Amino acid sequence: MKDALLAALDRNEFVLYFQPHVSLVNGKVDGAEALIRWQHPDQGLLGPGTFIPFAEEIGLVTEIGAWVMQETARLSRPWRTANPDFHIWFNLSGAEFKDPALLSRLHALGDDLWGIGVEINESVAMENVDETLNIMNALHKAGLFIALDDFGTGYTSLQHLKRLPIDVLKIDRVFVSGLPHDKQDSSLVEVLLSIARAFSFATLAEGIETEEQAAALRDLGCELGQGYFYARPMPADDFSLLIKRSATASR
Ligand code: C2E
Ligand code: MG
Ligand code: MG
Repeated sequence: MKDALLAALDRNEFVLYFQPHVSLVNGKVDGAEALIRWQHPDQGLLGPGTFIPFAEEIGLVTEIGAWVMQETARLSRPWRTANPDFHIWFNLSGAEFKDPALLSRLHALGDDLWGIGVEINESVAMENVDETLNIMNALHKAGLFIALDDFGTGYTSLQHLKRLPIDVLKIDRVFVSGLPHDKQDSSLVEVLLSIARAFSFATLAEGIETEEQAAALRDLGCELGQGYFYARPMPADDFSLLIKRSATASR
């Protein structure tokens, strides 16, 4: 698989898909998350779960990640130019987040970091909070936004959370799936949202699949949402059409 991944980089077989972040209040597209896919010559389109963990294991994920950040910046440039409030996000694996070359790679993108954010998994962020704090501060100073991904699934201490320069807390979809009927999930989401509010983080719920879930989250005060109910991840050209339609509809 290592040779196949190296060949995939070489042959440009990776593709970015984009999934909108939508305001739960007014339905407007606030931004998007870039999600990698592999257009495999024999196996078709593969999701990140089939190759990113392996790439991490063999130390190839920073190279793939370098491609992801370049491609995210390039493809999102027209969206960020057309709408200065547009936020584009990409995922950083643990190895990339801790890579000493991360900042120089980001700076190599030029002064074009406006509107770009990185998503860091809660469990990665909490491994070594002092180190995380340093890296996040440097990322913030460089002008990037920071989201804590899959929140609620790791072991965050509130005392640590307080120290971190986080812009958006992404509530994991395991808590969203039971809404609005599962009382326990509703209470947990309420707790997660009040934690976010206490620290003045913006909130985004992942994995919204139904209108009922979107309504329940909006009623609980969650600001943004992402999920199949709004749109599945899609190629950049389709995403361009989606935001053009969204802009026309809200005029
Ligand atoms: P994530 O960052 O939490 O991304 C959200 C995942 O949930 C995506 O899966 C997305 O397709 C999926 N999703 C979105 N809405 C719904 C929904 O309504 N229902 C359900 N069931 N799922 C939904 P995907 O694209 O397979 O990505 C999985 C994970 O792989 C991501 O989780 C992220 O941790 C990682 N990943 C994706 N792209 C990259 C990348 O470029 N670099 C790195 N290092 N990791 C990536
Ligand atoms: Mg993510
Ligand atoms: Mg997530």
